[in-house]
Amino acid sequence: MSLIDEALSANAVIAEDYDASHSGPPAPRIAIVTCADPRLSGITRMLGLDDADVDMIRNVGTVIDDDSVRSLVISTQVLGSREIMIINHNECGMTTFADAELEERLRRETGVSPIAPARFYSFTDAEQNTREQVQKARSHPWISPDVPIRGFVFDVHTGRLSEVL
Ligand code: ZN
Repeated sequence: MSLIDEALSANAVIAEDYDASHSGPPAPRIAIVTCADPRLSGITRMLGLDDADVDMIRNVGTVIDDDSVRSLVISTQVLGSREIMIINHNECGMTTFADAELEERLRRETGVSPIAPARFYSFTDAEQNTREQVQKARSHPWISPDVPIRGFVFDVHTGRLSEVL
């Protein structure tokens, strides 16, 4: 049985005890952009925040790209988030290869060279990368200057955040 099938079976049972108290319209107070890495899945709890207050925007590598900007604009301009945290982490899988290497390997293995993705956004320095993502988000004209955007690196060994200034 695949994990998806197992999850479907489990859902049928778990939904019996579903708490519908949070089923009203979304009213997030903060948007968090972080990595899809499973080690970041508990980040709301590690920050002591309520799930209902957080718009969680995740992609591999904590990248501010066209799609995460789209989510941030909706979160702040439509849903009402008033602050943005960008949370990268140490030992990210995106530091284990370079874009050019991966592209070369995939071209070799598949024999094709598709137009997308244009970049994988691999990086070497989590702090520097976070600084760049903050700058990209900060410079977007549809994200209000009244919304603070702060960048952090989560340490997967200690569970602590350090702010990137
Ligand atoms: Zn990561």
